[in-house]
This record gives sequence, structure tokens and C-alpha cells, in this order.
Amino acid sequence: MPAPTALPIWKIHADILRTLQGGNRLVLVAPTGSGKTTQVPQMLLDAGVAGDKMIVVLQPRRVAARTVAARVASERGGKLGAEVGYQIRFDDHTSVGTRICFVTEGILLRWLQDDRALSNIGAVVFDEFHERNLLSDVALALVKDLQQSLRPDLVMLVMSATLDAEPVAAYLNQCPILVSEGQSFPVEVGYLPVPDQRPFTVQAAEAVERILYEGEPGDILVFMPGRGEINGTLDALRGLRTQERVACIPLHGELEPQEQDRAFAPNSLRKVIVATNVAETSITIDGIRHVVDSGVARVARYDAERGIGTLLLEPISRASADQRKGRAGRTAPGTCHRLWTSIGHQTREERNTPEIQRSDLAEVVLLLHSLGIQEAATFDWLDKPDPQAVLRAEKLLTMLGALHEGRAELTPVGRQMLRLPMHPRYSRMLIEASQRGCVPEAALCAALVSGRDLLVRLDRDDAQMKGLREMFEDSGDSDFITLMRAYEFAKDNGFSFERCRSHGINAQVARQVEQTCQQILHAAQQQRLYERDSGTTAKGDEALLRCLMAGFVDQLAKRRVPGKPECDLTEQRQGQLVRESVVQEAAFFVAANLREAPSRGPNPLTLLSLATAVQPSWIAEMFPQHLSTTVEHLFDAQNKRVAAMKVVRYRDLVIEQKAQQRDLDPI
Ligand code: ADP
Ligand code: MG
Repeated sequence: MPAPTALPIWKIHADILRTLQGGNRLVLVAPTGSGKTTQVPQMLLDAGVAGDKMIVVLQPRRVAARTVAARVASERGGKLGAEVGYQIRFDDHTSVGTRICFVTEGILLRWLQDDRALSNIGAVVFDEFHERNLLSDVALALVKDLQQSLRPDLVMLVMSATLDAEPVAAYLNQCPILVSEGQSFPVEVGYLPVPDQRPFTVQAAEAVERILYEGEPGDILVFMPGRGEINGTLDALRGLRTQERVACIPLHGELEPQEQDRAFAPNSLRKVIVATNVAETSITIDGIRHVVDSGVARVARYDAERGIGTLLLEPISRASADQRKGRAGRTAPGTCHRLWTSIGHQTREERNTPEIQRSDLAEVVLLLHSLGIQEAATFDWLDKPDPQAVLRAEKLLTMLGALHEGRAELTPVGRQMLRLPMHPRYSRMLIEASQRGCVPEAALCAALVSGRDLLVRLDRDDAQMKGLREMFEDSGDSDFITLMRAYEFAKDNGFSFERCRSHGINAQVARQVEQTCQQILHAAQQQRLYERDSGTTAKGDEALLRCLMAGFVDQLAKRRVPGKPECDLTEQRQGQLVRESVVQEAAFFVAANLREAPSRGPNPLTLLSLATAVQPSWIAEMFPQHLSTTVEHLFDAQNKRVAAMKVVRYRDLVIEQKAQQRDLDPI
């Protein structure tokens, strides 16, 4: 292996240090594999750029934070967690002697909460900045603010793999830009001649087969959107008809560390690495000569139906596709096999939209308020968020009881919510649950609503399936209770695909729900909202219904006529509860899911689903800060309080939101 000093970034070593010794800001652009992540922090350390303070390197992905930290520690001949460490959610490998620390952005934001001045940090390196994650934009803005107000000595270094440096440099008051050319070899790109409707896991396996058949040497990197598709591809690869034996290796954020390391370890066989977009620019695996690109990624978006974030499969941008292609040409000429057509390529987005412009901002606005920044919309951002989105976030936070009405100040509940790494709706639910002894149930509900649909949609006249579904419907109180029963059924049956399918349950979703639920419970435990095995159980379903109301209180509905689906929402909106809901009697309910449906009339029809029956008295009891009067007033168009209670207008909901993404997990 060549010495790290042979990496291209070392050619501009002197320039980097000169710039940072003369000033406190720099934007550095160099292609993936140049040595930005592994070399630059070491250069800063060895030159004493951060004085005796710590150098923090922000990474958008947990896998990357861990693996690059391990790599840098071993290059320096030290133990991981000593001079070089990392910290990600649930995993802290640092010590008092740590001088270079790789962290996900959420960790830095936590540190900011504890120490506004970041007193023990001398340099912040924003790595992979081209990704433009919501939290990296937030971190950049906050650190810039800190540097200008309290810490002129703090060094800021923004590193990026693509050439979009000017706007960032301009934002950092025209700071210097350094560009390293790096080295790369030509990569031959192939497209599908016509679109192929088969699963891309199968298509990818066939592309691998063709590469092996053609006999060109070199390891193969396959890009897939997530764990499920990676496993699917590995299955398809097992059926390959090829003479050559290959080592098929998965790489994603849910693997154990030792399993992640397999991708980097030398292998006597040709490696076929099937990875998420963590291998796009975050980590570099030597020896790759061929790339097979599914062309899709799981992208965090705001789901207007539920008013919460989800991860949907989407075509990657052309800029991302080029990065992926580049992975094949680092050390020799290579090939890239795109599983889409060249015509389809032209219709793709040129680059990714900054997440801040397609996000639900509730979590971030809560954080900013806690740091005393009350004007989130006009804050000094690289790209400003939509002021409407900020307003919506503030209204939701006020409704959830996190902000004092009119004072834009955090309430004690808001402070507690801040400590939970999840959307404020769910943290509000958990806090309520901790007081009512039903944290496991509330965590399960949050998990059930944060992924894809657990229950398969039923045909209007599928009487047999309807009968089976009724098995899970044991009260008219909440559709969540039905989902919980269905989930328990799936779990009791070992998530068996067959058993689940025959009952209209998506087994894969159920499995995912279990994992998400465990993560939520873990977070609740860390915040002492809950003790495992404490034996506390809720007193009946009412506790849970109240928690659900707490999380979705802004989506409160009042039935117009008993037993009918038509209802009023706050803000003079109207809606209709879906036929499938079990909540067919209650006069008041909250809906976790709002969906706009086509209608014959002049106004669009809002369909409500995932309903939970509530008592009007609960609202006044649980949210006294909003309601000195009765709940009826909420629906009264003449009442002034309605204006104060104005919540998310349904049409405005069509924006996107950051979600709890595993591989791209901010914390
Ligand atoms: P950049 O951040 O510019 O994309 P990196 O610093 O991540 O570049 O990687 C530079 C080089 O270091 C890679 O090309 C690779 O040769 C080597 N490298 C990085 N991480 C590892 C690792 N975990 N194992 C082995 N080699 C690595
Ligand atoms: Mg890097």
C-alpha cells in the first residue's frame, strides 16, 4: 500500500496550512478518494492548527464516522478512542486524550446545547458538505455565528467532493477556496437499451454476471438504496451462473462493525460489494474497477399524508450518478453500468436540493429556539428555508406545548422534547406516555406511523380478508390499536412472510417496526422516561389514547353528524374520515394521517385516517396553556382563539421532511 502522503491532497498540504494559519476559514474541494477525510484532520493536528483543543470532523453518516476514525487511528498507530476517536448515537469512542473526533452532525448540535462556546474545540471540519444535509447546514450556520460572536480563534474548514464552492465561500465572507485536482481514469458508462421492469436487485445481479463473464479484472461495487435491497441483491447473486468464485459483501449502516470492515479487508477472491450510498462519497474502498448503479436512493421526504417524514425510493440526481461512476476510475480505467436508459438520464435532476428547502423544520426550529435563536426564518443561512415552513414548525411546536404561546420560548416540556432524538410529535407522545405508564405502547405507535403501511390495502369487496382484519379490530377507540394487534400477530408468528401475507400484513414492514420501536425505547430509557422491566403498565387504553392525542393534537377533528364520516378540523377546514377506520362513533378524534383526495366540488377533499377517539375534556386538561375555554371554540370560526390556534393548513403540508434514516442518521 502506498504511503498516505502519496495521496493527491498532500500536493496542497502547504497551501491548506498557510491559509488556516493566516485566517480561520477555508473551503476545500477535492475529488472522492483524494485524502480529504483521512489526511486533512491529521495535517491540522500535526501543524497545531487547533492549538491544544480538539479537531472535530462532521460526518453525515454513522458508518463513515466509525470507519474513517478507525482508519485514521491505525494510520497514526494508535488505538481507536485514544488520540483519534468517534462519537455517534449510542456509541462513544472518545477519551480525554482525544484530539481528532469524528462525529455525526447531531452530536455536535448536542454539544452546542451543553456548551454554547464549544470551549474545548479548536477546529470544526464540515466533511461531505456537498450532501447539504439539513443538520450540516444548521451546524454550519451555528458555528459561523459562534465564530463571529465568541470564538474568532475557532477554525472552520468546509470540505466537498464537487465543485460548488463559490456560494459556500461567499457565505463565509469570501473565504479562500483551495481545489485539488486529484487523479482519475476514464470510466466507460453503459445504459439500459430499454427500461427494464424487473426488480433492480435481479438486474444488478445480471450486470455483475456480465462483468464477470467479460473477464475484466477488478472489484465490483453495486449501489442499492437500503438493507432490504442489498440482501435481495445478495440472494440474486447466489443464483449466478459463473465459473468464477467471488466474495459478496454487504455494506450498510445496520451491520455490526466487524461486518462493515469486511468491505475494506483484502480478499483472495474478487469482491462484489453491495452498498448503500455510503460508498458514493463518504468512504473509499480500494480496488473497485466496476460500478453497478441501481440509480435509486432512499430519500428523506415529508409525507403530506401523515404530516411526518418518510423514506421513499427516488431516482438519484445526475451529480450523484457521476460520483458513483467515479468510484470505478480511481486507480485504473473502469466501467459503470447504469440500470436506467440514457433518455431517462436526461430527465433526472441535475443535483440534489438542499435538505433545508424540502424539510419539515419542527425539530430544527425547536433546537434553534433552545439556543435563543427565535427568528429561524431570517437567520443567516447558506440557503434560506421557506418562511412558511418555519411558521408551520413554530405553530406545531406551540400546539404540542413545546413553545410558550406568543413568547417563542421553550416550555419545560419543550426542553424535555429537545433531549429526544426524534420528531417532536413522537417526543411529545413519549413524554405523555412516561407520565401515564405506557411508554412501550407509545413507542410502538410512533414506530407504526413512521414507516410504510403495515397493513396491505384491502379491496372493497374482499370479504374474506375483511373478516381476517376484524380479528385485529377490538374496539372503536383507535386505528392504532388495530395496527398494534396486527403487529403483535406478526411478531408472534416470527414475522413469517406467509402467515403475515395471509392476514394482509406486510412482514417486512413489521420487522422494521420492531427495530424502530427498539430504538425509540432506547432513547426513552436514556432520557429516563422509562425503565425496562419496571413492570409499570398502563391503566387500560385511555392512557395510550391520550398520548396519541398529545402527538396529533393539531389534527383534531369534530364529527358533524353522529356516525357520519364528515367532520370539521380546526382553521375552518373540513375533512372526511375514511371508511376503514374503526373510529366510527366518537364525536371527537385526532387523525394521524391527512390526505388530499380529488373531489367533485370546488374544494379539495381532505381524507382523514389513522384516527383515535378523544374526549374534549382531555384537551383542556392536557393543554391548558392553549385552552382557557372549551374545545368547541376551536371549531368556531368567529372565535379569536381560532386564529391563535391556527395550525398547519393542509395545502401547506406538501413539503418534505427529514426522517429518521438509519444509514443517514444525524445522531
Ligand atoms: P476523501 O475523503 O477525499 O474521499 P479519504 O481520505 O476517505 O478520501 O480516502 C483516501 C484514501 O485512503 C482512499 O483512497 C483509500 O486508499 C484510503 N482509505 C481510506 N479509508 C480506508 C480504509 N478504511 N481502509 C483502507 N484504506 C482506506
Ligand atoms: Mg471523505
